[in-house]
Amino acid sequence: MSILIYAENTDGKFKKSTYEAVSYAKAIAGRNNTNLIAISIGDVANDELAALGKYGAEKVLNVSNDKLKSFVNQAYAFVIAEAAKAEGANIMVLSNSFSGRGLAPRIAVKLQAGVADGAVSLPEQNGDKFTVKKTAFSGKAYAVVELTSANKVISLTPNSYKVVETGGTAVVEEFTVDFKESDFKQMLNEIVKSTDKVSLPDAEIVVSGGRGLKGPENWGLIEELAELLGAATACSKPVSDAGWRPHSEHVGQTGIAVSPNLYIAIGISGAIQHLAGISASKVIVAINKDAEAPFFKVADYGIVGDAFEIVPKLIEAVKQY
Ligand code: FAD
Repeated sequence: MSILIYAENTDGKFKKSTYEAVSYAKAIAGRNNTNLIAISIGDVANDELAALGKYGAEKVLNVSNDKLKSFVNQAYAFVIAEAAKAEGANIMVLSNSFSGRGLAPRIAVKLQAGVADGAVSLPEQNGDKFTVKKTAFSGKAYAVVELTSANKVISLTPNSYKVVETGGTAVVEEFTVDFKESDFKQMLNEIVKSTDKVSLPDAEIVVSGGRGLKGPENWGLIEELAELLGAATACSKPVSDAGWRPHSEHVGQTGIAVSPNLYIAIGISGAIQHLAGISASKVIVAINKDAEAPFFKVADYGIVGDAFEIVPKLIEAVKQY
């Protein structure tokens, strides 16, 4: 038995969500006293591949084939499933990213595996049975699923497991497979970014607004501060429910979990459901006109005052910096 983690890269670099998935897979490997093997597809430098050892991978299978330069669901799933067979891996872990969402069920079909997509914590294990807590209904609820099959595929929700450095360097090996033409029925030619904004799950800094901002017409303040700081924008649930901001920005128990270095909460009360999505943030700053707002109990720095006075001053201060 061994565990295979698909180490997803973007333009040749691994993202935080990949290191989270490797750390998560390492924790499962540790419990089961088994090996952790990573597989990377595409052009990733050897040093970057070997550095996956820092997060617990003992070996990295490198697949660099011209046909796989851009993401192809069927072909990537085929390669990962073949690697799992070659390595005798029966647990496959990947990030529940855009690609991961397409890959997990395809790999599961190829390996006749049970699949838990969007896991939010380590599985509870009872012999061969894994009980996994995962997101459901587009993140609006949780479901608990049991995986009883011998092969298992688990995709991890980004920001739900901490990156853990265990030290070490992984051995890098080339891995080749023979494709069938039928694996390339659908090809990705080009990715056209719809926005240059920082993506929320990967953001190092998040500027988040709540109902204290009064209405969507005032979001310019949040966006200007975020742009100056190179941050992603986020919001509380009532703000997205009211249609002031898209649901993709809603942070919390029923929204996205984030783990930035800096989370700035502006006009957000700090309800427990909101805090559930930001507790992994390294530094939290709360700006609220109510000195009794619950956010101040968890904030590292708090500013008591009117957001409409404080945020413009912050913007000016950052511009001077
Ligand atoms: P409010 O509670 O209205 O707070 C607004 C804050 O702004 C207040 O603290 C006020 O003092 C401050 N304020 C007002 N004016 C100003 C000003 N001019 N300057 C500065 N501060 C000002 N919420 C989430 O966010 N995410 C979730 O995932 C989530 N999931 C939920 C799941 C369930 C099952 C339930 C029941 C609720 C959930 N909620 C969630 C809702 C949550 O309980 C709160 O109602 C919500 O977080 C409050 O949003 P808010 O802080 O923006 O608004």
